[in-house]
Amino acid sequence: MSNKLKLIKLSLKEGADEAVKKSQELIEYSDLSLTMASYNNAINDIYMEIGKKVYKMYKSKEYDSEKIVKYCEEVKELEEEKRKIKKKILKLKNKKECKICGVLIDKKAQYCDKCGNPQ
Ligand SMILES: [Zn+2]
Repeated sequence: MSNKLKLIKLSLKEGADEAVKKSQELIEYSDLSLTMASYNNAINDIYMEIGKKVYKMYKSKEYDSEKIVKYCEEVKELEEEKRKIKKKILKLKNKKECKICGVLIDKKAQYCDKCGNPQ
């Protein structure tokens, strides 16, 4: 059994101690960060493909915007996934984003530490 799985099983046990919970949170956090990074890489790859396609079209003077739209839709889907992961990360960190300036603040904060706007 992998260490990760062991930790998860342990933490599911009733009365699992805080240390185990903490390490599980850490694992979850690093998993989420890794996923986030791979989404970012995938998005950058698509950006590059879009660039190549546009240049190819420019050279051949045959513009096919549908192809570009397809790539853009893929990016949009990935951005959506990223938003979900970001939410999970914020939840794990007990943080939220300021509605106005977007800076990370305490989940329970009623006002932003940076811009002072109510939340
Ligand atoms: Zn703010």
